[in-house]
Amino acid sequence: MVVANEIDKFYPNGCHALKAVSATIHRGEVVVIIGPSGSGKSTFLRTLNQLEEISTGSIMVDGIDMYSKSTNINQLRQNVGMVFQSFNLFPHKTALENVMLAPLKVAKRPHKEVSEHAKALMKRVGLEDRMNNYPTHLSGGQQQRVAIARALAMKPDLMLFDEPTSALDPEMVGEVLDVMKGLAKEGMTMAIVTHEMGFAKEVADRVLFMEEGALLVDDTPQAVFDNPTHPRLKQFLAKIL
Ligand code: ATP
Ligand code: MG
Repeated sequence: MVVANEIDKFYPNGCHALKAVSATIHRGEVVVIIGPSGSGKSTFLRTLNQLEEISTGSIMVDGIDMYSKSTNINQLRQNVGMVFQSFNLFPHKTALENVMLAPLKVAKRPHKEVSEHAKALMKRVGLEDRMNNYPTHLSGGQQQRVAIARALAMKPDLMLFDEPTSALDPEMVGEVLDVMKGLAKEGMTMAIVTHEMGFAKEVADRVLFMEEGALLVDDTPQAVFDNPTHPRLKQFLAKIL
């Protein structure tokens, strides 16, 4: 579904954030990206949504070149949902209004359909009784679940998560991971940057290990966690596990 081929990314300050990264995400697959701070995980994720431009290489989404001039990037982007560490909900809108906003304003879908879909999504993330709350009246875990519902409201084919639980109090991590596990079970294609290794082991089809902008390992969770062979990966795991 997504094929990144030899992508390089230089930031304007000269930082070489991605070095010849090639990776494929198949439909229905859950790919977890791990690696030390500054290794390029967020940059890689953001190129998949064109929040960052690549310097060289190509990214194909369902056979369409993301960086070709003839590609309608807004349409492509609508098919990709993204959830960040900070939830970024609109503070002056209720949870339900946050979920309804993009389908109404961007996709211009009919109000009744959007409203019904949004309510179903709130139920799916376990917040049917919190729909009319404003973000400040929700816990961090609840806000992040609203952010997931908001991303799902655009009916994306691919969901990107950048450390979705890193800003949460420990007791709220589980409720967000459970929602993500549910999505995985339903066959959602997902790329997830996370430090939750237990989750990665349980849910990932493949684990990518990045260091200093390079993709060093692309393998099954069993190979990565139970039998790592790459010396840099071993070092990294020894530090965090
Ligand atoms: P973390 O685990 O800390 O989130 P990361 O693996 O997500 O790290 P990135 O944020 O992708 O790493 O950063 C990769 C490299 O690119 C780093 O060296 C970082 O300093 C640099 N970088 C990131 N964003 C920018 C930017 N906007 N301008 C210049 N350099 C940047
Ligand atoms: Mg990051």
